[in-house]
Amino acid sequence: MNNKKTLLALCLGASLALAGQAQASPGYTQTRYPIVLGHGMLGFDSILGIDYWYGIPAALRRDGAQVYVTEVSQLNTSELRGEELLAQVEEIVALSGQPKVNLIGHSHGGPTVRYVAAVRPDLVASVTSVGAPHKGSDVADLIRNIPEGSAGESIVAGLVNAMGSLIHFLSGSPSSAPQNSLGSLESLNSEGAARFNAKFPQGIPTSACGEGDYQVNGVRYYSWSGTSPLTNPLDISDAMMGAGALAFDEPNDGLVGRCSSHLGMVIRDDYRMNHLDEVNQVFGLTSLFETDPITVYRQHANRLKNAGL
Ligand code: CA
Repeated sequence: MNNKKTLLALCLGASLALAGQAQASPGYTQTRYPIVLGHGMLGFDSILGIDYWYGIPAALRRDGAQVYVTEVSQLNTSELRGEELLAQVEEIVALSGQPKVNLIGHSHGGPTVRYVAAVRPDLVASVTSVGAPHKGSDVADLIRNIPEGSAGESIVAGLVNAMGSLIHFLSGSPSSAPQNSLGSLESLNSEGAARFNAKFPQGIPTSACGEGDYQVNGVRYYSWSGTSPLTNPLDISDAMMGAGALAFDEPNDGLVGRCSSHLGMVIRDDYRMNHLDEVNQVFGLTSLFETDPITVYRQHANRLKNAGL
């Protein structure tokens, strides 16, 4: 019995050590330009020490990446969020001593980082979107169907704006950010997204579900997303993702459809991940039968590195 236990402990120890070794790889994520992370709707940089990008910045930094986590208005139009992010990118470029950045945006962060690359391509080496509704979200379309100017609309707008302000406050951000939930929905529904794409078409597929240009104005474009609303029974947020999925008649991550997530080179559009798994939430509870989201980010940093970015 004791021998069996010892053997088990040895095996466990060996496999843990192997896993640790496979993970530690100096220089693996050492991109030439800093990686700048841009959050989605109702997102943040960190709250009470908890990252929006759960465990991702540390995993990227460990093997050489310089990572900056940004925060913009939780709820606003892609253009206004983009202007806020641009100011932060200018600061990062001044601080890091590198002339450009690699932008990665999740959800509404996707159109937000695209805005920066469209107006200042000289500051951007690459744009990567993760689960971003480039052609709108069926969930936003559904909410948008609440009649304009109705009591229902003002109640939803008021509640969501308050949530945005609370998240901004909790995340310890110094000043209040302008919250505009109706503006946010306007950018995330399919009509608003189409208008944004007409102004900022860089990397957007011209077909319904193809890939976009891999490179525009010297900026590389990439994307990935998931299509499994329910992935982990221990994660209470799966219920929300499952409810969101009901708005769709195509594969989706609970908030964004597979084809809407396409931008530039599509790395994968069918990870067994829901919209929150894509940023390793909640607290790392994701599918056990899929690559760890952190590994997906590390592989991407390595891809950028190998592309000289
Ligand atoms: Ca999850």
